Amino acid sequence: ATPTAIMVGTGQGARAGMLVKNAEALELAEKIRVLAVDKTGTLTEGSPEVSDVIPAAGRSREELLAIAGALEATSAHPIAAAIVRAARESGAALPGAADVIAVAGKGLAGRVDGRDVVVGTPAFLDERHVAVDVAACERTAAGGMTLVAVGVDGVFAGVIGVADRVRADSAAAVARLKARGVRVVMLTGDHPATAAAIAAQTGIEDWRAGVMPGDKAAAVKALAGHGRVGMAGDGINDAPALAAADVSFAIGVGADVAVEAADITLVRNSLHGVADAIDLSRATLSKIR
Ligand code: ADP
Ligand code: MG
Repeated sequence: ATPTAIMVGTGQGARAGMLVKNAEALELAEKIRVLAVDKTGTLTEGSPEVSDVIPAAGRSREELLAIAGALEATSAHPIAAAIVRAARESGAALPGAADVIAVAGKGLAGRVDGRDVVVGTPAFLDERHVAVDVAACERTAAGGMTLVAVGVDGVFAGVIGVADRVRADSAAAVARLKARGVRVVMLTGDHPATAAAIAAQTGIEDWRAGVMPGDKAAAVKALAGHGRVGMAGDGINDAPALAAADVSFAIGVGADVAVEAADITLVRNSLHGVADAIDLSRATLSKIR
């Protein structure tokens, strides 16, 4: 490839909101046949809000939020901030939490007012021997909400639904990628019903749910085969998966870690940037040939 064409392409990219860190990525982008995308913060806006509070029989909404909020006050996860905000808005005083452990991709466990509390995915509660109300959880997840199930002293206490809006242009960007022959695969740690709802809203036919942060890189590698594999993500958890791809994209204002790990940073916070990069790659290479 002529260095001049690549330099010109890199400059054009920068003006269009694509910061190309690795020149080879600009050459490879047009060869992407599969694009793995993270859900939270990539397809969605990444600013979740509590939109559903479903206490189990015998518990109040305020109580459920206060118990969960007590543990979440110790966490930096975007879901945690949403629950703490909702708990404060409900007027509940947050009790203190002790002995809190955070399990990436699953949730939190600790003690609140002398009780054992678990918050997180239904699978995490199962692991901790809390029998969840599956029907209540699936109803919430079917709306595309992320589930935060709550257990107190081994008993299911309710579920909190956290909604994260799909970015307004995600569906259009997915359609553009498909038109360029790219298969889009969503990877998420979320519940399968939540994943299915978000996939349907964005026109994605292929997705993997319940993928633990440590397993995302392997999931990206498993997509290798025909053509190059791209990966778009925003978060700290996405860095290993970005590194595992042939061409990686960090979406906008996400974690610095993602920006450092990625070949191309999309400063406009939109998946359209991936299709733009593929187009730029084609235009750049056609000048080289
Ligand atoms: P994603 O793959 O969507 O970026 P994560 O891997 O961070 O999400 O988390 C996967 C799932 O684990 C979340 O959807 C949520 O159900 C659960 N989870 C993780 N951290 C927390 C937390 N602090 N509180 C409640 N649930 C959590
Ligand atoms: Mg994310």
